[in-house]
Amino acid sequence: MVKRIIKVLFYSVSGIIVIALLVAFAGPLWRHWITYPQMEKQVNEFQKLRKEPAFLSNFHTYRGVMHAHSYLSHDSKGTLNDIIPAAKSDGIDFIFLTDHPHGDSDTIPKGYHGNYGGVLIESGTENRGFDCWPLVPTIINWKLDKDTVAKQIVSNGGIIFYAHTEEPHNWGNPDFQGMEIYNFHTDTKDGESASWHILNFMVNGNKFRPWALREFFDEQTTILARWDSLNMKRKIVGFSAVDSHENQSFRARYLKDGRIQWIGPNAKAVDTMEVRFWNKWLFSEPDKSGWVFKWMIDTYQSGFNYITNYVMSDSLSVHSLAENMKKGHLYTAFKSLGDAKGFQYYASNQKDSIIGILGDSIKIDQVKALKAVSPLPGQFRLIHDGKTVNISSGEDYQYSWSELIEKGAYRLEMHIKQNGKLIPWLYANPIYIY
Ligand SMILES: [Zn+2]
Repeated sequence: MVKRIIKVLFYSVSGIIVIALLVAFAGPLWRHWITYPQMEKQVNEFQKLRKEPAFLSNFHTYRGVMHAHSYLSHDSKGTLNDIIPAAKSDGIDFIFLTDHPHGDSDTIPKGYHGNYGGVLIESGTENRGFDCWPLVPTIINWKLDKDTVAKQIVSNGGIIFYAHTEEPHNWGNPDFQGMEIYNFHTDTKDGESASWHILNFMVNGNKFRPWALREFFDEQTTILARWDSLNMKRKIVGFSAVDSHENQSFRARYLKDGRIQWIGPNAKAVDTMEVRFWNKWLFSEPDKSGWVFKWMIDTYQSGFNYITNYVMSDSLSVHSLAENMKKGHLYTAFKSLGDAKGFQYYASNQKDSIIGILGDSIKIDQVKALKAVSPLPGQFRLIHDGKTVNISSGEDYQYSWSELIEKGAYRLEMHIKQNGKLIPWLYANPIYIY
């Protein structure tokens, strides 16, 4: 009798565990076998449609990351050994870092500045809601009122962009020059639970990392609406932030005394242990950064490739890039869906000459048409002061006025089809007609 009860109990408990595991992993497994292979196929087909558009102006286009963290932040361990190979494999030309300060002290003077194996890096800081790049070796006095700091940085030629724009900011501040219109970290705060994503990365992190990351995506409509409303008053540059820390991970490395130290999420030390016969198999030879074990979600490589800023600039120098960022000569696109290098958005006159590009202001009596070319086809949406005024599909775009031209900010979005659904792919800064 007792034997029978034990048997029944054993089978019921095992059954429940198996069912629970199946339920928990059903979504990730479905994605592994069905959804992600389909997605990969679609994206590969889409990339094959690529045609390089002729370059219409004297600018070059540089791919860049604006808002990422290195070991100088308390919550990252990333060094050039991790950052540079990732940037190179993604075709990234420049990285404007935004390390968290230590207390009130910035890390900018001792941060990375210069060209590291072909990747240009400039150090900045993320503090009190700012992505801030002073562009000169300086010590910012963070004890001052925030708006005063912004004024000082901007009047000395630096950049103050607003970070994490889902949070409260002084939107009336007259000095800030731009804002994040997409932040990956912001996007992870809505949608599925963290545990669901961890399960999904356990199943799909290796083979389908770009698509597992795309699971976080939600269109940031509130932030975009804010951006539009601000642009009705003055130019506010929009850009994207991958906010890469490479810190959602479990990693291990040797301590000097031969023990192993475990580093968990947010680069926090979680445990140390002796290497014994039973755990030895977990650890491999140390990589360049000394890691002997790595399980990571947000690698620099996948982050830099997820969304990318494209800055139109005459050269790859900090000065030129910064000046063109401030001017809004930039667009941003979800690069894992398709590389947008070659896209151009411009205004032309009666004679069909280019009289300005994205970010520029143009007199109402000079402009005849707004035009765009794209290396990949999609649906163009022209948005005038927050309202979609024209939609058309293809590789190039033209909007000519037949009647009265209206003043205002005209920005362009491109959407592409995935699984029969249109999803945002590219956001371009407005052309301002005044
Ligand atoms: Zn950040």
